[in-house]
Amino acid sequence: MSTFPARAVVNLDAIAGNVRALADYAPTAQVMAVVKADAYGHGLVPSAQAAIAGGARWLGVAQVPEAIALRAAVPASAARVLTWLYAPGAPLAAALEADVDLSVHAGWALAEVVAAARETGRVARVHLKVDTGLGRNGLTPTDLEALLPDALRAQSEGAVELVGVWSHFAFADEPDHPTVLAQAEVFDEVVGRVEAAGAHLEVRHLANSAATLTAPRMHYDLVRPGLAVYGLTPVPQLGPAADHGLTPAMTVEAELANVKRIAAGHGVSYGHRYRTTRDTVLGVVPLGYSDGVPRHASGDLPAQPGGPLLVGATADGGGRLLRVAGRVCMDQFVLDLGPDATEQAGDVVRLFGPGTGADTDGLPTAQDWAEAAGTISYEIVTRIGARVPRVYVGGEATAGPSAQGAAAAESESKEKQA
Ligand SMILES: *Cc1c(COP(=O)(O)O)cnc(C)c1O
Repeated sequence: MSTFPARAVVNLDAIAGNVRALADYAPTAQVMAVVKADAYGHGLVPSAQAAIAGGARWLGVAQVPEAIALRAAVPASAARVLTWLYAPGAPLAAALEADVDLSVHAGWALAEVVAAARETGRVARVHLKVDTGLGRNGLTPTDLEALLPDALRAQSEGAVELVGVWSHFAFADEPDHPTVLAQAEVFDEVVGRVEAAGAHLEVRHLANSAATLTAPRMHYDLVRPGLAVYGLTPVPQLGPAADHGLTPAMTVEAELANVKRIAAGHGVSYGHRYRTTRDTVLGVVPLGYSDGVPRHASGDLPAQPGGPLLVGATADGGGRLLRVAGRVCMDQFVLDLGPDATEQAGDVVRLFGPGTGADTDGLPTAQDWAEAAGTISYEIVTRIGARVPRVYVGGEATAGPSAQGAAAAESESKEKQA
């Protein structure tokens, strides 16, 4: 039995297979697997290695330290690494020493990249980030116009090489939204201007998971899927992930910490928002909101059904679909196992994984939890807490524990692979 009574089991073969599926959606483009936020909670390095095994030749992260950590495990011959979100004073020289591509999203950012290039004697490979309509990070087309002469001068002086122009969608998860095409048209215009000014771009890139799956027009030279790499769909309204050839990579499971009989009419968990309607059996699941189980997935009957779980499933299937009873607490929540429950402390319950979903009484999905909590599946997987060990299955023998995972993950990983 494990040292921590719950775990996130990450199937590295699913990640590799998802990247292959995404490459098939975008046959004319290269794939950048986005592995920011500890690979959406799946573990930075093992997930990146699995994505490379699936054919990704680029990796994308938001923060500069994530890029440097990634490069310590992934050689430049295996993948290019792009990082895009930093404030003044970021360790850009260290990023250049680590052979990382840098995004430039402001005038001061160009100045800091040029300074880092001079300091290290390296040529900084720069991707100009353009705000084509998202209204978030990036240079507006007007800002870009103003910055372009400085960027070209830095290029002619040998400090930088302008290798990319890129942008990000506001509404790619609504493929018919008029802003999608409007942003692409702005993008085309900006790319045209940068090229006309003398940049020889290697990659133009705009598509996230949703656009990779739904909009070939947006694939350009490189697609940047994140969520879909982990087997989840950003467009659940278009059908389950399996319809896109994607397999969810993460399964979250726990051992019941207690099972006990309790009388009818008993309140359950803080605030007694759930009350037993008959003599029954309660089970305590040792995962709570500090582990990323959303408090908004509490089961405040009859108003709100809680997050779904599969109890008592064996390798041959079966199992009962139950829902969180009462409030999700910091470290634990409760299930009403019913009067005829045969479960015992130590039995495994599964919150979500590569299942057919709560609708079918099968293993719930991260999407089911997102719906129970009023959020998106991105938030469900990325918030699985650091103390929940990641256990890797599949993949190559080199896969190690997440940078985020506890030492427990390492011993668990060995347990599983042994
Ligand atoms: C997170 C992110 C992506 C990946 O988005 P998904 O919707 O997860 O595919 C791509 N590009 C940028 C700039 C991002 O921040």
